[in-house]
Amino acid sequence: MRIALDFDNTITRDPDLWSAFVGLALSRGHEVKIVTSRHPGLPVPIINCPIEIIYCSFTAKRKHYDADVYIDDDPKHVDKDHAADTVEHADPPLL
Ligand SMILES: [Mg+2]
Repeated sequence: MRIALDFDNTITRDPDLWSAFVGLALSRGHEVKIVTSRHPGLPVPIINCPIEIIYCSFTAKRKHYDADVYIDDDPKHVDKDHAADTVEHADPPLL
């Protein structure tokens, strides 16, 4: 199984839990990657990360990694760019 694990407000809520999860998942032959909306200019603060970190730069996560399972506190950005979300919810322009 390919598993995408979000960083902000997912791993950060309980790093020890997710560290144990990643270790168990890898030991069982699953593939786990951290898939973050962040831009690589603002890297996640993990030193010697044992798994790949994919930076999506605020574009839809599925464009970067086609996981079987996404573990994410904000799942709408699995399939939707942040910019599209911003436009969709923006107030109409004042004329
Ligand atoms: Mg998040």
